[in-house]
Amino acid sequence: MEFPPPLLDAIPDNPYLLLTPGPLSTTKTVRAALLRDWCTWDRDYNDIIQRLRADLVGFATARAEEYTATLMQGSGTFCVESAVGSAVPRDGRLLVIANGAYGDRIAEMARVLGINLLVQDSGEVGPVDLALLDRNLAENPDITHLAVVHCETTTGMLNDIAAIGKIVKKHQKTYIVDAMSSFCGVPFDLAELGIDFMISSANKCIQGVPGFGFILARREALEACRGNARSLSLDLYGQWAAMENGGGKWRYTSPTHVVRAFCQAVEELKAEGPAARHIRYAKNQKRLVAGMAALGFRTLLAPENHSPIITAFLYPENCGFTFNEFYTHLKSRGFVIYPGKVSKADTFRIGNIGDVHIEDIERLLGEVSEFIMHNS
Ligand SMILES: *Cc1c(COP(=O)(O)O)cnc(C)c1O
Repeated sequence: MEFPPPLLDAIPDNPYLLLTPGPLSTTKTVRAALLRDWCTWDRDYNDIIQRLRADLVGFATARAEEYTATLMQGSGTFCVESAVGSAVPRDGRLLVIANGAYGDRIAEMARVLGINLLVQDSGEVGPVDLALLDRNLAENPDITHLAVVHCETTTGMLNDIAAIGKIVKKHQKTYIVDAMSSFCGVPFDLAELGIDFMISSANKCIQGVPGFGFILARREALEACRGNARSLSLDLYGQWAAMENGGGKWRYTSPTHVVRAFCQAVEELKAEGPAARHIRYAKNQKRLVAGMAALGFRTLLAPENHSPIITAFLYPENCGFTFNEFYTHLKSRGFVIYPGKVSKADTFRIGNIGDVHIEDIERLLGEVSEFIMHNS
């Protein structure tokens, strides 16, 4: 199918770069792709959906025949809730590994849904204790499912989903991974890691605009979800069955413009290549940390726990630093950053995913340097 080239000159520049990991800065071509209307039951639109579903599986694993993609309306949280609320049966029990706000959120949704729950809490900055996980699974044979966040966006911590997966599979549990902020930014293969359900969204490393997310599932595991859901609109099996049997139809109104823009983002990801995108993000993050260190900023986490997605920095001490002044200065120079999200330390976060390149990081470091000079 053909898409006419968008009128790029008519698309305004963004007033500042978002150094926030979703929504993030998108390309002009992605934003231009928003500018037409679509019919949700027409072939033109449904063909886009089917191609997207196949592309997503292709990004996720070399064993494409074992997996299937379902798109779901809403933000990333809706998709995690859909997966958790549909995967765990009424007599099942979920172990959630939590080391940050997003792990805590999975535990919270399990409580709201009335799912029998065990939480393995590693604190806000602690890596996952694998020996404890092994023990928890051995001592609680009623656990059927395990959920963990890959990149804990609260701190930037990258959890070792390969090592966790080995233990989960040794105990023959169903493995759910929230890879919202890492999918297509950090390479991994679902089949290799034994992941049964993986969740991500349009507005993270694929660099689309917000409005929907997606769940990649091992076909067999998904087919076993029929009748499990605690919600009609978030019924993953129901959504999948409608899409699969309807040639790409969504059950309820889909975010058509957002989906079309996502399609453009996927083409741009293919053109860049997921491996090259990972390298771009990693270079951004390493340059950021090195440059900030030279200006006196320390990171919250030890370097070996960092993801290439987002970094939490501690406030510098004894210099009257305030986040508000820092934020306002950077915003006036074209950069928007994130406040911190941990309770035990004063931090701010800088993300480096999206249409963000090394020269943007260099420019940011120049502005941080200027701020430091005028405030010390
Ligand atoms: C962004 C994100 C989510 C989803 O957040 P929404 O605000 O619902 O889009 C979930 N988990 C992680 C790890 C995330 O980074």
